[in-house]
Amino acid sequence: MATQDWSPSSWKSKSIAQDVEYPDSVSLSKVLSKLETLPPLVTPSEIERLRYQLGLVQQNEAFLLHAGDCQSRCSFRNARHPQENISAKIGLILSFSLILIWGARLPVVRIGRIAGQYAKPRSSKTEKIGDREVLSFRGDNVNGLDPNDRTPDPERLLSAYFHSTTTLNHVRSLLTSGFASLHHPRDWSLNHVRSPLLRKEFEHIVEGLSDALDFSRTIGVESGPSFEQGGDRGTVGEVDFYTSHEGLMLEYEQALTRAFPLPSAAQTKATAAPAPHKPKAFYNTSAHFLWIGDRTRQLTGAHVEYFRGIRNPIGVKVGPSMATDELVRLLDIVNPLKEAGRVTLITRYGAGKIDDHLASHISAVQKSAHPVIWICDPMHGNTHTSSSGLKTRNFGTIISELTSCLKIHAACNSRLGGVSLEFTGELNEEGFSVTECVGGSMELSEEQLGLRYQSFCDPRLNFEQSLDVAFLISNYFKK
Ligand code: PEP
Ligand code: MN
Repeated sequence: MATQDWSPSSWKSKSIAQDVEYPDSVSLSKVLSKLETLPPLVTPSEIERLRYQLGLVQQNEAFLLHAGDCQSRCSFRNARHPQENISAKIGLILSFSLILIWGARLPVVRIGRIAGQYAKPRSSKTEKIGDREVLSFRGDNVNGLDPNDRTPDPERLLSAYFHSTTTLNHVRSLLTSGFASLHHPRDWSLNHVRSPLLRKEFEHIVEGLSDALDFSRTIGVESGPSFEQGGDRGTVGEVDFYTSHEGLMLEYEQALTRAFPLPSAAQTKATAAPAPHKPKAFYNTSAHFLWIGDRTRQLTGAHVEYFRGIRNPIGVKVGPSMATDELVRLLDIVNPLKEAGRVTLITRYGAGKIDDHLASHISAVQKSAHPVIWICDPMHGNTHTSSSGLKTRNFGTIISELTSCLKIHAACNSRLGGVSLEFTGELNEEGFSVTECVGGSMELSEEQLGLRYQSFCDPRLNFEQSLDVAFLISNYFKK
């Protein structure tokens, strides 16, 4: 049901953090009017299915994997092999989730940071490049990476829409043409895995899986209605996959917010009404899942106002500066009816700070009886600059925050429901993984960072490092 005193534009009366100032409001209005006429990227029924599956995560019946780029480029001109990069990303997400499903015997809900993650929040409005002070790069949907192209251009929002559309189209066609088939998991990954130990461990899973599939085929239950295979419509070749991005550019989000009838299953007694007065809800149709960043989660700010009214499941980043009572007040605002599956808290304190904050956040939320999913983002509190000046993250530090997170949840009678990672399966021309985070089973050193550093935003785990994380989580839940 539509939220009281809310409209897709009510955020405009609030103060907005990370605002983008366009020099020409007439061109901006034209672009937004055009966006309002374009078709939705995702459908209400997909969004409702994700809400339902996140409800299962919250009840400890599934695990959430949220992963992808920090920020994607929004022009295929900038990507060497766009289709290969997309399939490498999806392949890594599938391999990661297979390790979890196999080891922990838990279905995995997969949400990619993909098909819309183009804007980035910045700590400073301007930056120094050489001896010039220029506007900061805010992402391809705002301005250009080139220091001479930093004036925000609204046409970029339109390109972002079309870029999301083509990316999503490719993802959907990959997933419906057998790429996700559990009969061919080697297609997703093995040529990327250089560590002999990791290869062996992954091979082991694939062999076990082949046996299990053979057995199922023999006894005739291969296309059973498992959640993993998409609820009641599954075959072993299909998986659910959802898209997400940070809901930062509110003009864009508003233009893609559309009213649709609330599905009957989602209606409460209070909202149920006879046709033709079916209650409507506002869906953000640019992605299935959106999150509020750590820099835009002010209780009285524009982003929280926008997010409280949409029906999509949402994420909230929770960092060390979040006060415990502030967290509960935020939950009261965005989930007043305490609905399961609606809110995912993405904690990102940093390995050195998690001990000071997580337990009190868990305890405050438990007292408030808000149903939330807790997931660990061990990336954003653990970034540093290497001696060569490249932004990096240490694999050991990432693992340290993740391990502390698992332990603290267990000690607080809570449960870690998932992870949020910045990773990529991208390879260079010679078939080598990126080198952006140090450490991992390949023991990447600071000196090697420059070899294949391809991120122009935050450093991502590469293929091998990501599988290392997958095995760690899978082994933890196996116990
Ligand atoms: C991000 O997820 O890329 C990000 C900027 O995170 P945070 O808001 O937690 O800093
Ligand atoms: Mn990031």
